[in-house]
Amino acid sequence: MVNKSIIIIGAGIAGLSTGCYGRMNGYNTRIFEMHNIPGGLCTSWQRKWYTIDGCLHWLVGSGPESSFYKIWKELGAVQKPQIIDHEEFMRFESADGKTFILYTGIDRLEKHMLEIAPEDKDIIKEFIKGIRACTRFELPVDKAPELYGFIDGLKFLIKMLPFMLSVRKWNLISTQDFAARFKNPLLCEAFPVIWLPEFPISFLLMTLAWMHKKVAGYPVGSSLEFSRNIEQRYRDLGGEIHYNSRVTKILVENDRAVGVKLEDGSVHKADYIISAADGYTTIFNMLDGRYADETIKGYYDNLPIFPPLIHVALGVNRSFEEIPHTVTGINFPLDQPITIAGKEWRRIGVHFYNFDPTLAPAGKSVVKVMFFSDYAYWKSLRDDLNRYNAEKEHIADQVVAVLDRRFPGLASKVEMHDVATPVTFHRYTGNWQGTFEGWMITPKTHSLRMSKTLPGLDNFYMAGQWVEPGGGLPPAAFSGRNVVQILCKRDKKPFLTTIP
Ligand SMILES: Cc1cc2nc3c(=O)[nH]c(=O)nc-3n(C[C@H](O)[C@H](O)[C@H](O)COP(=O)(O)OP(=O)(O)OC[C@H]3O[C@@H](n4cnc5c(N)ncnc54)[C@H](O)[C@@H]3O)c2cc1C
Repeated sequence: MVNKSIIIIGAGIAGLSTGCYGRMNGYNTRIFEMHNIPGGLCTSWQRKWYTIDGCLHWLVGSGPESSFYKIWKELGAVQKPQIIDHEEFMRFESADGKTFILYTGIDRLEKHMLEIAPEDKDIIKEFIKGIRACTRFELPVDKAPELYGFIDGLKFLIKMLPFMLSVRKWNLISTQDFAARFKNPLLCEAFPVIWLPEFPISFLLMTLAWMHKKVAGYPVGSSLEFSRNIEQRYRDLGGEIHYNSRVTKILVENDRAVGVKLEDGSVHKADYIISAADGYTTIFNMLDGRYADETIKGYYDNLPIFPPLIHVALGVNRSFEEIPHTVTGINFPLDQPITIAGKEWRRIGVHFYNFDPTLAPAGKSVVKVMFFSDYAYWKSLRDDLNRYNAEKEHIADQVVAVLDRRFPGLASKVEMHDVATPVTFHRYTGNWQGTFEGWMITPKTHSLRMSKTLPGLDNFYMAGQWVEPGGGLPPAAFSGRNVVQILCKRDKKPFLTTIP
């Protein structure tokens, strides 16, 4: 029997995963990627002798106790890198000199929070209980949810019910609303900046539970290396990948996807077309919106996305070995507010990559600060390259100045600076509005499930963060695996996996 063929658009983690599982199951696969490297958002780049990491803070599934670990092993992603499990998620400093440390160990965190805020004993105990409940939860990953039958659904429900009951209430509370329950001003102020204030607090509980279990660590060696490991796995499985190959159209005959057209005009045909590229471009440009029904249009009209980032990296001739290692850095108040791209900031978070020796020569470090920003602001600024570049320089100068006040002497040691804007993220990955993780999860959208197909279009599937609300690397990899499982079912063959 002749193997069926798949064209995959995009070599981000979802596209590479689709390719790997496609090959494991005997499909002839070709990936077309517009950039000249793999990884999409999971990337890093070189400036002088520094490697700037543009993605990985933590990898869910980095340790054997996670159900996701198996997927990363199948993809050859976790065999090589050393994994670091940080003891601290972040440090939050207040204007009056107090520090809240969000420890990743549950007992230590509980003790610390009770010391800081004995007046909040009840809510702290409840919060800690919530994290402990999450440690008992592992998402089943063997079968694509789309293939669940009645029995699978029942088994899932029985397995997950205790967890769902204990965590359900946390899904409905945003981090900001949860913070307002503390009487203690330090905790009240700290929680909304741990990550986005709109995020359901359940995601913080889950993340801390994963970190406590040491299954959400940092893979040493940069995000691009992580992506390259999966690219290598794909090539070892015999997959084809074409870089500098932007897909402009998905070709359709009688409501069946039959191929793609590239920017250079060439046409490529296959039995299945899977887009692991940006959702908006896929649906509204490559397919001209012909298969977008009201539900899909509604997503793109109404759903919140993760706000895009201004990503400021500095190369500093200093080791910062005295600074504690954290997952997301130190957040501190500014003595004078600064205005970044039209928005005022009264505090900033700074991330020291002093734990990854592969990113800078000995004695030097990469230091990073990120700000949420507005795509439209940068898009219009980009029309005037001089103004755009001047704004980036101004931001770098401001960041260096505020860091120098908090970490005296830093400014004189800065050897490199690099500012990526929402337009940069859009240019390099095609992601709509320059977002860094697709659809944002809120208490209103946490249970939203999106289809991997479009109504009325056959032989076409989508994988990646635009069909997995909340985004992130595990859902990207999982969705690629799931799409291939769906194809195997359709082609009446068993779904096979191997571990290299
Ligand atoms: C600063 C930052 C920090 C992050 N931190 C974490 C973290 O700690 N943990 C975590 O799990 N996740 C993190 N993420 C999120 C994570 O990187 C993404 O959710 C994930 O990589 C998305 O993968 P994807 O394959 O779905 O999409 P993408 O990475 O966007 O891949 C899409 C690919 O399609 C290509 N493409 C687009 N259009 C075309 C076209 N027309 N033709 C051909 N190719 C095309 C793009 O070039 C790209 O390679 C972070 C992201 C950022 C930016």
